[in-house]
Amino acid sequence: MTGKQARRIAEFIEPLRVRPGRKVNLAKDFDPAFRPLGLRRKNSAGLLDRGIALLADYQRRLAAENTHGVLLCLQALDAGGKDGTIRHVMSGVNPQGVHVEGFKVPSTEELDHDYLWRYACRLPARGDIGIFNRSHYEEVLVVRVHPQNLDRQKLPQSAKGADVWERRYREINDWERYLSDNGFSVVKLFLNLSKEEQRTRFLKRIDVPERNWKFSAADVHERGYWDDYQRAFSEMLSATSTPWAPWYVVPADRKWLARICAAAVLAHTLIGIDPQYPTVSDEVRRDLAEARKELEAEAPHGAARDPYLAEHEGASRDGKRAEKRKKVRA
Ligand code: ATP
Ligand code: MG
Repeated sequence: MTGKQARRIAEFIEPLRVRPGRKVNLAKDFDPAFRPLGLRRKNSAGLLDRGIALLADYQRRLAAENTHGVLLCLQALDAGGKDGTIRHVMSGVNPQGVHVEGFKVPSTEELDHDYLWRYACRLPARGDIGIFNRSHYEEVLVVRVHPQNLDRQKLPQSAKGADVWERRYREINDWERYLSDNGFSVVKLFLNLSKEEQRTRFLKRIDVPERNWKFSAADVHERGYWDDYQRAFSEMLSATSTPWAPWYVVPADRKWLARICAAAVLAHTLIGIDPQYPTVSDEVRRDLAEARKELEAEAPHGAARDPYLAEHEGASRDGKRAEKRKKVRA
């Protein structure tokens, strides 16, 4: 990763970032069909694959360093493309280092705890990337749009006054700051879908038999609350995009573009962490040299003393010879 590539990624995602303190009006400020840096599909070939390879490399280092963790929160309205984004963006990383946690309607046990409890229970460990497919932000979205959810949370009277949403924003910001101060980067993506594109995707789920299972009449019912959700999202973005845990509004009407944006935001986060492979002490290096001697001495007759080195030195010698031949011909 060169400095130039890192700057290019930062430049690409900058228009998606919600500047802390900015008052967001989703419908006016963020276009679901926006193209960062004017990116067209025909010019995007290989971009996602390069992003995926980059993520795989950084994830290996994150796991080896075992000091930082990453929490990626994904929020979207139904058919926003959360599942597909996760599937594509994480397709190259070691599954052992990534955990996807989905959050549905809370269970009885979950409702018996404070509202952040179930999210805290499923945070990533150091060295891991955790993905929240829906997240603690449901607590200021669906719970706000349908206040009966708040009634189910068995809160004391003092905790459900008119200031409940402002308080939750503050508590969520504080919680994320605590995580970030302790080595866990929190990065938040809102997949911003237009109402018309949602209608098209719902219809596709009805029209294509293999997709019928994905269709839910409840999703169409929820669509009736579109404006309430837009307001709840706007307030959430305004109140909870912080220097330590920024929101990115990903234009989601084009799936290919949304995936590139999501990979770019995650890559930007990992580049910022810059995890390193642990280096070994002089003492360990001496032990390695001793072990090498012993293993080389065990080489059977006719075998290379160190097959790995023989192959790699051979390959690099061959490479140099080929270079030389090319120069001579030129
Ligand atoms: P899919 O792509 O499979 O539809 P999904 O995330 O929409 O994925 P569903 O099982 O369809 O999963 O929906 C989960 C539902 O749970 C959503 O309607 C969401 O709003 C709701 N939910 C999530 N968190 C809470 C919460 N804290 N309180 C009430 N409802 C919640
Ligand atoms: Mg659903």
